[in-house]
Amino acid sequence: VTAEKAVLVTLVLPFQPCIWTEVSNVYEISDSSFINLSVFFPVDDLLCCVYLCLNQLGPAYLGMELGVGETVLMKAVAQATGRQLDKIKAEAQEKGDLGLVAESSRSNQRMMFQPASLTALSVFKKLKEIAAMKIDIIKGLFVACRFSEARYIVRSLAGKLRIGLAELSVLSALSQAVCLTPPGQDFPPAVIDAGKGMSADSKRAWIEEKTLVLKQTYCEMPNYDVLIPVLLKEGIDELPKHCKLTPGVPLRPMLAHPTKGVGEVMKKFDEAAFTCEYKYDGERAQIHILESGEVRVFSRNQEDNTTKYPDIISRIPKVKKESVVSCVLDSEAVAWDREKKQIQPFQVLTTRKRKDVDASEIKVQVCVYAFDLLYLNGESLVKQPLSRRRALLHESFSEVEGEFVFAKSIDSDNTDAIAEFLEQSVKDSCEGLMVKTLEKDATYEIAKRSHNWLKLKKDYLDGVGDTVDLCDGTYGGFLLACYDEENEEFQSVCKVTLPLCHSPECCEHILPKPRAYYRTEQSAEPDVWLDAVQVWEVKCADLSLSPVYKAAMGLVDPVKGISLRFPRFLRVRDDKKPEDATTGHRSSIRNNDR
Ligand code: ATP
Repeated sequence: VTAEKAVLVTLVLPFQPCIWTEVSNVYEISDSSFINLSVFFPVDDLLCCVYLCLNQLGPAYLGMELGVGETVLMKAVAQATGRQLDKIKAEAQEKGDLGLVAESSRSNQRMMFQPASLTALSVFKKLKEIAAMKIDIIKGLFVACRFSEARYIVRSLAGKLRIGLAELSVLSALSQAVCLTPPGQDFPPAVIDAGKGMSADSKRAWIEEKTLVLKQTYCEMPNYDVLIPVLLKEGIDELPKHCKLTPGVPLRPMLAHPTKGVGEVMKKFDEAAFTCEYKYDGERAQIHILESGEVRVFSRNQEDNTTKYPDIISRIPKVKKESVVSCVLDSEAVAWDREKKQIQPFQVLTTRKRKDVDASEIKVQVCVYAFDLLYLNGESLVKQPLSRRRALLHESFSEVEGEFVFAKSIDSDNTDAIAEFLEQSVKDSCEGLMVKTLEKDATYEIAKRSHNWLKLKKDYLDGVGDTVDLCDGTYGGFLLACYDEENEEFQSVCKVTLPLCHSPECCEHILPKPRAYYRTEQSAEPDVWLDAVQVWEVKCADLSLSPVYKAAMGLVDPVKGISLRFPRFLRVRDDKKPEDATTGHRSSIRNNDR
């Protein structure tokens, strides 16, 4: 058998060619040459075998391309085999070949009816259909485009719409629309502006109140498929009744405001009762216990971390009291040294595998520090004050040292006692304190960054206060940027040099020129541009106004932006996307504070 024939035969074999007998015959009667062999192939079969060998769909000049994204392929494999997408992704990363993953996944599959065998011809036809269908659909859209529509269609398809509309603005717009023009009216609607006759102030206040209902509901049930039909059918006031916090669906976590010292905390909370908790330095873990008994863990960004923490999952039955049927816990997963019985630094936690962790191979142990209970046995607790939520948390779970512990806290308004507790928290390897209202204004606020939780980090006591999370753009010295939600752009803010051990792999992110949405001054331009793919936590001595950097330009000064003085790299924030980097607006508020 010549090499050419071998190629054809191996190619045809996996697809069980319909002409297999003929191929066999070819071997028996002729082994002279590739051309001879082809004679015995029906033309279509030979053609598709040649194309399949070459991984082409047609002649190069027609430019037919498949270009199916890896994510789509993984989803298809997951759906066809019933395997979890996470598992497939992790295995693909490990093996570096999605084909191998698909092959091994397929063998797990059991089917009632065996589908017809694939043939080389049928496979090739399907591949062509996929390529043509994609182009046909997109082509159809283009043909119908007018004005600037094509620009947005292409950006949508590329996943980069960049129209400067953050999610919160969309929610506000939706709420305003349904407030002013109540849904459910016949056409043409009798009421177009239900706020007619109201003063501008009361109209704004009314819409803001309704918008908060929508935002709050969205935070509890972040799914437009569920939300919008209810909004149109039942109206905004009814939303909370129909779209509720549901175990298994991650909700947005409550965030805290930075403060600069115990004095500021006392001033902000004034008469209100509050508690100080250790601020543990790990990874936020929203633990959901479903009625079915299933346990899931979600990250700060609502990513499913269930397969990262099989150890947490397996200890839940041990720590939960029998009365708990379903619940949502808010907690911090922290690296824990079992021998020394002490907390380990955050950097240790980052060495843990991210997905599909095998419980027997875990080297970095974690302890869960539970600090809130948001849902219990069919009831959402987010509207309850923290004192109640905390009492229920303590009633519903028991502590196991090094595995599941309640966040350490003191309820005191004595400045010295708080300062001492802060110092102790640092000695116990924590970042500082979280100070939270207990009774008044003490609901779990997710729709806005609330002042009910203040963070008091040890760093605040000397430097600028909170660290900022910035996006890297170049290497050597790195030009960093903050993110401006309004304009959807990255605005330069400072340069930092990295400790060598942190030098990231940059080559694959090099850009021929800066993105259109990078805002920099020519004098601060780097030699090489990188895609903004990572968020870094950076500490600095102070903020300053600078004509060279663009962060928050226009907010605090018409021509100067904000920059960081003596910035120092702390760590990579894998839990944040580039668009989650600190906003220019937040830096500008802090600048005004100072
Ligand atoms: P932000 O979430 O405010 O943008 P960030 O992600 O940098 O900032 P931090 O400033 O470190 O977070 O502070 C908030 C985080 O602290 C929470 O998301 C949570 O993961 C962690 N944390 C640790 N201990 C507690 C606690 N007792 N109560 C609430 N959060 C805690």
